[in-house]
Amino acid sequence: MLVRRLRVLHKALCIGSMQVADVHTQHYDVIVVGGGHAGTEAAAAASRTGANTLLITQKIQTIGALSCNPSLGGVGKGHLVKEIDALDGLMGRAGDWAGIHFSILNRSKGPAVWGPRAQLDRGLYRDFIQSELLSTERLTILEGSVEDLLVSAADPDKQGRHKVYGIRLGEKQIEFTQLLNNLLLMTDSCDSHGGGEIHSRSMVLTTGTFLSGSLFLGPHSSPGGRMGDPPSCVGLSYSLKEILGLKVGRLRTGTPPRIIKDSIDFSCTEIRLPDEKPTPFSFINTHINCKPEEQLPCFLTHTTPGVERVVNESIHVNSHIHQDTKGPRYCPSIESKVLRFPGRRHQVWLEPEGWTSDLMYPQGLSMTMPADTQLCLIREIPGLHKAQIHTPGYGVQYDFVCPTQLYPWLEVKRTQGLFLAGQINGTTGYEEAAAQGLWAGVNAGRTSLSKVPLSLSRTQSYIGVLIDDLVGRGVNEPYRMFTSRSEFRTSLRPDNADMRLTPRGFFSGFEEIGCVSQQRYNEALRVKKSLNEALSALRSISLSATRWKNKLQHVNISETKSTILSGEEMLQYKDVSFQMLASAFPELLAPYLEFSERIKVEERIQYYESNNFILMAKCVMIMWLCDSAALYHPHCEKQRRDIERMQEEESLYLPQDIDYLTLPVSLSKEVREILDGSRPNTLGAASRLPGITPAAIVHLLNYVQREK
Ligand code: FAD
Repeated sequence: MLVRRLRVLHKALCIGSMQVADVHTQHYDVIVVGGGHAGTEAAAAASRTGANTLLITQKIQTIGALSCNPSLGGVGKGHLVKEIDALDGLMGRAGDWAGIHFSILNRSKGPAVWGPRAQLDRGLYRDFIQSELLSTERLTILEGSVEDLLVSAADPDKQGRHKVYGIRLGEKQIEFTQLLNNLLLMTDSCDSHGGGEIHSRSMVLTTGTFLSGSLFLGPHSSPGGRMGDPPSCVGLSYSLKEILGLKVGRLRTGTPPRIIKDSIDFSCTEIRLPDEKPTPFSFINTHINCKPEEQLPCFLTHTTPGVERVVNESIHVNSHIHQDTKGPRYCPSIESKVLRFPGRRHQVWLEPEGWTSDLMYPQGLSMTMPADTQLCLIREIPGLHKAQIHTPGYGVQYDFVCPTQLYPWLEVKRTQGLFLAGQINGTTGYEEAAAQGLWAGVNAGRTSLSKVPLSLSRTQSYIGVLIDDLVGRGVNEPYRMFTSRSEFRTSLRPDNADMRLTPRGFFSGFEEIGCVSQQRYNEALRVKKSLNEALSALRSISLSATRWKNKLQHVNISETKSTILSGEEMLQYKDVSFQMLASAFPELLAPYLEFSERIKVEERIQYYESNNFILMAKCVMIMWLCDSAALYHPHCEKQRRDIERMQEEESLYLPQDIDYLTLPVSLSKEVREILDGSRPNTLGAASRLPGITPAAIVHLLNYVQREK
């Protein structure tokens, strides 16, 4: 089975220049444990930084598997996909390759909160990720289960931290390296590794829902990380808790039954068509893989009182719902929704699982009651009266590591070389996992090569917001991304993620990082230059309102006749497009037609946010984009200084050896205990801790500046 799958993969591979790793290498710069969304991005990113990397995962054929919904992006999550792509990650390109239904959510609102989303073909997505990894330089993949971490207490660093120096494997592994002369090298390496050790300088753990995982269906539960997959062995959880002394919690989530497509009566549902002009996730793709007109539709139906009755009657045989552990508040099971909001009608989206799949995914119907009761429930829903279930829904509970124990570069504070990313840090969702994986991979790669780790600020990216929230505030329920989590959402838009992050992933200020390729960096520079030129060209056009009316027929300009308006101001009108202006001034503007959408968004954002405090963040972004601060109003300059001051204070480093309990400053006992428990890395992170007052922050700021 495995060999057949790999042959398929091999056929699908596009072979570039590849370096063949030594299959018998027992020492790597970086080991990544887990081939989910965090692990795949981590492995690829660590390799890109120049680290010789090993990805170990339980089953090779589940690398890149979408455990739950076959979809990517959405509001907040789509921002993360764009940022992952801007940093040369895999997810955005995989989405463009595998997408079967693209849409931008929230289009009626401002561009800052648009949510790029796509329904995916499961198989194509997984194949793309596997192909990419198998053709990644410096990356070896090993099928096997990590049973334990190897921890050295002998050589603590200055802060007394122990070091993780490798892993111990379970019994049977198969190793895959890159392609050699178009032949896939596959070694059954039981002899070399069976139950053995592999050493590394750094390690990224991405065990997802598998760490001490249990599956729930009706009254029964059994060990498992996902249906069909065993959990991560108890040894790993034990090492984290007992050997490394980490605080570990428990969370849960669930998935709906998969429904056989032919058994659905779509005439009782509302059809939802995709965007006619699909927008790719990746900045380097101008088109998606499929023809826009061939995209598949989704369908909408709703729950009925019958659904509520079935839920209530089966509560006593539904053990998952009785557990104390916290589930995803924003993606609740149908049982939770019925119990929390009795009498309410809930949406159910019927979404295709792939081009040729005969299954539909009923989004909104995650459930854990017995399988026969699940059938009764779905048959209470219009369109599903005769539906057949292919696989029942189920729930999963798993261990996570409280993420306040991590640095902002995702390394465990009390253990050198150990990085954590994905669901193991208490998040939920593919995008959240991949974003952390990428950044943990970059830093695991860097530390293994004796380079300083890097952080992303929350003023710069949603990935920064995500990590800062995790390490600063921790989680008490599965964390997912929303645009409302960012204070700077006007500037952190999906459309400008490349301008914000591609240079950051390429160059650290004094050295190349390797996360972003030269090719992608060059493209970002070209885009930036063109946008600058286009904005200058727009500003150079200035006409009276009357002349604009003559030029652009059918546009309703509200200004008085003599008002002078620039091209830039005209573009802020909702019904004026860049294409219209380019037709009127072809010599000046036609060279920039490929950026029509982006330029329009830049200008519209001013319109949406003109009275908004957060405009200051946008001004900073545009100034950076345009290099020419003189073009902007003086108030923007003041706002730029404000945001810079905020950024400086926000990133003020708090020494890790501060004893908050005895610190000679005026802090309440409660504040001291919060700070001592969380040990925030920066003043910004401290200020966001629940229970920390502005006065406490001022005292802390004064203390740190005094002690500098
Ligand atoms: P995973 O994708 O879980 O990958 C973990 C990987 O690690 C797996 O490949 C596993 O084989 C490997 N692994 C684990 N332990 C070891 C070991 N010891 N040795 C070697 N390999 C190991 N997300 C949502 O956003 N909404 C939802 O509604 C939702 N519902 C879900 C329902 C279910 C039943 C499940 C299982 C997941 C659900 N998710 C949902 C979560 C989503 O799948 C995860 O957020 C995402 O996949 C996390 O990515 P990850 O890389 O952290 O972990």
